[in-house]
Amino acid sequence: MTRAASSTFLGMPVALPLAGERGTLRGEHPFPEAARAALANGQLRRNLGHATRTIRGKRAAVVAEVPDWEELRDAGAAVKDDVLARLPELLEQFEAAFTARGGHVHWARDADEANRIVTELITAAGSEDDLVRQVVKVKSMATQEIGLNEALAEAGIAAVETDLAELIVQLADDKPSHILVPAIHRNRAEIRRIFLEHMPGVDPALTEEPRVLAMAARAYLRRTFLAARVAISGANFGVAETGTLAVVESEGNGRMCLTLPQTLITVMGIEKLVPTWRDLEVFLQLLPRSSTGERMNPYTSLWTGVVPGDGPQDVHVVLLDNGRTAALADRVGRAALRCIRCSACLNVCPVYERTGGHAYGSVYPGPIGAVLTPQLAGMHGDDDPVDTLPYASSLCGACYEVCPVKIDIPALLVHLRARHVEGERARRRLPTPERMAMATAAWGMRSPGRFAAGERSMRAGRLLARGGRIRHLPPPLSAWTASRDLPAPPQQTFRQWWAGRSGTPS
Ligand code: SF4
Repeated sequence: MTRAASSTFLGMPVALPLAGERGTLRGEHPFPEAARAALANGQLRRNLGHATRTIRGKRAAVVAEVPDWEELRDAGAAVKDDVLARLPELLEQFEAAFTARGGHVHWARDADEANRIVTELITAAGSEDDLVRQVVKVKSMATQEIGLNEALAEAGIAAVETDLAELIVQLADDKPSHILVPAIHRNRAEIRRIFLEHMPGVDPALTEEPRVLAMAARAYLRRTFLAARVAISGANFGVAETGTLAVVESEGNGRMCLTLPQTLITVMGIEKLVPTWRDLEVFLQLLPRSSTGERMNPYTSLWTGVVPGDGPQDVHVVLLDNGRTAALADRVGRAALRCIRCSACLNVCPVYERTGGHAYGSVYPGPIGAVLTPQLAGMHGDDDPVDTLPYASSLCGACYEVCPVKIDIPALLVHLRARHVEGERARRRLPTPERMAMATAAWGMRSPGRFAAGERSMRAGRLLARGGRIRHLPPPLSAWTASRDLPAPPQQTFRQWWAGRSGTPS
């Protein structure tokens, strides 16, 4: 990402992301290609390995403390399934409650519509006032998904990220690589360098000590919070019965954004609702333990419309579809909409741990990204990078085991692979080599005689083996051995072995 321009906010330079650089769900490269490049980065792998191991350990310890953890997971899944089954009704209930308490509800079908609404609201919040042309932001996946910062930059509005990790990413002109820890691919030395190069007014004697780095960011952000007139947030949950929005966070930056400015604009995916206030109880136990490995969130902010004289007096929520109703229409795939973005599945995924988030090309990386992105963005064939995401998994099942809302990600990956294969079959007139190979295998397996002949011919493969492995095969099978080898066929087929033991003919 290249920085297009810079602006000033309270005399400090502020980066404006390059206008027009959106594409926050669809990457430029197929996953295998992007992963190969990421795997060559040893520093990235060391940073990721250390960070994911640490978070995994913390999560496992605090989850083990909860005797009814499995029941909580069941409850979380049930509440979310209920929401998905009654979404139109609950959204209308939320709208009525939010409006009754002085808030304004906006509906956005897609990213462009959401970006236009937010831009107009910011503009309406004031004149060409410098303070209104600069807004503060709470960390939010929904706004990253729609490329809001880039859209605002096109309109000449600078969005200042206030979450520490997001700030690091923004200052470095980088992209987030993890849902919860966007700068997980950066270590302390890199962060120090980024601050020294890009943070206005930073002490040149800055050290790599975490506390010193945090204090530098604190000083930089504090002036920004106090002057901001417009804030933008996402929402972890929206309570339908009361019209309440909830943001959970660890640093307190969110609390500053949600309480100090005059105008608060929240962008929330329509699936983020829970029916009642009581339902929050389940998720406020599941989320912190699964995400940061904490027993509870340090900051849980809840707000319901406008309270005269207290907090923002101009409160808006943009309810975002952007592919969610299409996902909802898939009776299997819709389970991905249960996701509460805890990122536990990323931290246990052996693929994510080695490639990092950038290889996925989407704001949603890791296992959940591999099932959510194709559903939100669509799989379009013809070498669309998104089509490669359902294959970015070994199907080991670790993601399902940790998911607090029991999303069976491996089953969804297989479902999406089947959809991809069906789509390719419909699009291509000529069968692919893979399809021809599968058809030949199916033909062979339908007849015991053909199957036995196939087994015998396979034994010829022993001639190609060295040290018990076949490392090179002629084309088109060379595509397989280019990235993995094969065990040499055994001396005897199973049928020969069985016949030798039981006396039955093979
Ligand atoms: S899929 Fe499950 S584990 Fe992964 S981020 Fe979503 S809720 Fe968390």
